[in-house]
Amino acid sequence: MSKLIPQLLKRLRQDFQLSIITLMGLFGILAISPYALYRLEEGNYLVSLADTVIVLSTILAVLYAWRSGDTVKPGVFLSAVFSTGATLIAINLGVNGLFWIYPLILFNFFMVSPGKAMIAMLLVLTALVGHALLVPGTVFESNYQMVSFLVTGLMASVLTYIFAFRTRSQRDQLQLLASQDPLTGARNRREMNKELRIAVSTHRRHGNSYGVLVMDLDHFKQINDRFGHPAGDQVLVDFVELIQQSSRQENRLFRFGGEEFLLLLPNTDEAGLRAAAAHLQDQVRARLRGPGGPVTMSVGGAILRDGEPWDGWLQRADQYLYRAKHAGRNLSIVEAEASFPLA
Ligand code: GH3
Ligand code: MG
Ligand code: MG
Repeated sequence: MSKLIPQLLKRLRQDFQLSIITLMGLFGILAISPYALYRLEEGNYLVSLADTVIVLSTILAVLYAWRSGDTVKPGVFLSAVFSTGATLIAINLGVNGLFWIYPLILFNFFMVSPGKAMIAMLLVLTALVGHALLVPGTVFESNYQMVSFLVTGLMASVLTYIFAFRTRSQRDQLQLLASQDPLTGARNRREMNKELRIAVSTHRRHGNSYGVLVMDLDHFKQINDRFGHPAGDQVLVDFVELIQQSSRQENRLFRFGGEEFLLLLPNTDEAGLRAAAAHLQDQVRARLRGPGGPVTMSVGGAILRDGEPWDGWLQRADQYLYRAKHAGRNLSIVEAEASFPLA
């Protein structure tokens, strides 16, 4: 029990969407439950029922999000329930219910993507105005009030859309910047550590096999020394493009040092890893050109072992890379699965 609260708080800190759903859920329950009771006492059963459905659905959606880790479906569900509920309440209560449409706008943009939230708001506004036009005298007290509500509701929705859209694209950009190497566009070292950890835990839980190839360009320093740093940079960019073209889509390429790269290959056994290493090596030898002629690489590879930590796995691949370098470069060495530790 003493461990549970810090664990829950950690999950809330790490998962923004889950914390928003939880916060909105708590807020919804606390803010709407008293209304459900109040309307029941008043004899307005329809509104009381709508309030109760909203509260119960909120509890279910929050529980589902916590259990499954999926925040998208509960978000869409809550957005639909709150939008329908608020529309019914506004139709039933008139102006007193209309005030709820404004927080509903913010709620929807927190719960779902900007496009979906905008569609939800257009549907809500259309339903309210449509009802008022079909049954005159309901929802609004005058046409003037209806037009004012429509204009302010639309304005608030559009402005919130712009804000949400901007925030979302900035977040995506930030995520990209934080995970990519700016020169080559390969994933960076931080991503590599994260992905290797995920591979180790997936292997432990589900037994999937993983291989890594550590690749290092041969005599790269000479390119810089003879032709300048920008020429070296161009070789690195071409190298990444070539490897990405020549390997399977599910493989992930990371730049973890100056001219050192790591390729993570899921669902790969020793024979597959050996074949991939030889293929990439051939491709580089045949197609990678620097200003001084062909550029080659050396490769070391290892398959993840049971119970092994990610850094030990990486270290083994690295040791085979050094063997390839010492054996004369332009070579790939993949550890045999049954091999004994290196001397
Ligand atoms: P080896 O065959 O033993 O790997 O020799 P090498 O020359 O490739 O290896 P070494 O480790 O001696 O040199 C690596 C060079 O990579 C040194 C460094 O200046 C260069 N380097 C590191 N990062 C970059 C970069 O971003 N751009 C360029 N142009 N060069 C870089
Ligand atoms: Mg090198
Ligand atoms: Mg190196």
